[in-house]
Amino acid sequence: MQKICLITTGGTIASRRDEKTGHVVAAVSGSELRATLHDPLAGIELKVEEFCNVGSFAFDLPLAFVLATRINERLNEPDCDGVVVTHGTDTMEESAYMADLLVRSDKPVVFTGAQRAADQPDTDGPRNIADSVRLAASPAAHGLGAMICFEQEFHAARDATKTHTSRVDTFTSGEHGKLGEVDAGQVFVHRKPTLRRNYAPSAIDANVELIKLVIGSTDGYIRYAADNGSNAIILEGFGIGNATPAVTEAAAEIIKRGIPIIITSRCPKGRVKPVYGNGGGKDLFAAGAIFAGDLSGPKARVLVSVLLGQGWGIDRMRTEIEFLGG
Ligand code: ASP
Repeated sequence: MQKICLITTGGTIASRRDEKTGHVVAAVSGSELRATLHDPLAGIELKVEEFCNVGSFAFDLPLAFVLATRINERLNEPDCDGVVVTHGTDTMEESAYMADLLVRSDKPVVFTGAQRAADQPDTDGPRNIADSVRLAASPAAHGLGAMICFEQEFHAARDATKTHTSRVDTFTSGEHGKLGEVDAGQVFVHRKPTLRRNYAPSAIDANVELIKLVIGSTDGYIRYAADNGSNAIILEGFGIGNATPAVTEAAAEIIKRGIPIIITSRCPKGRVKPVYGNGGGKDLFAAGAIFAGDLSGPKARVLVSVLLGQGWGIDRMRTEIEFLGG
């Protein structure tokens, strides 16, 4: 008998419409969620733990850190063979990546959710939970790190991103592709993630802002962030890793003050590299900005919050981020 722990946190998968307000809110308990499973999962015992019951838009990095810590505790128990976390889809990729960085076990960790609320007749939640439990119970899923399992596919937490506001096949891994699929209860692993690292910080530092650049972005936001408590700033810049000349100039001054600036791209695919002069990526690089390869802005922010939590300075951070960015 495989023993899987189902940790519930809320999200659409646990939401229903409140008749008085008309608002869709997280309200379905963990045991109610388990009761929605269409078929008994033969050979698997499911233990339910309610961690919280909120929309994932209300999560923050400290809560994601506590969740990852709780996952670690459960995995350390000898009678836990794997963990499934139900979570809102909006920020699932960030919580899952936090877990990927912090979980110190080869046992499977699978995040899942739904796009259609629990009170919809065609809710996708029960099937996603069943597939995720099958995945967490599969010996083939050991050592794959934290994953997101949705609409029969599973993805590495590092690569997965929500791509559609409402469709059920919302998660993709861009050009890296899925790790595998769950087909009629059977697990098929197509690839293994290799760009993984583990950390054990006693806390994280959530004072990391992410600033998305647009044509003509001024230096207003970046200077505001640096002057108001940010311990690192992620720039989601242009193309291969450029910023406006005003932002580049401000970034150089901010790095001199010891605040790391990390460059990612608005493009969903490809790596950032220092290529252009005249205020572009070459100037950011010369000023000491860290280029995060193909990590997305939100994922780079999670990673930096963990590295700052370990007390790492700019140089050590640079080597690590450039490795994990691939
Ligand atoms: N739309 C979201 C979901 O799929 C809401 C949330 O992230 O909690 O769960």
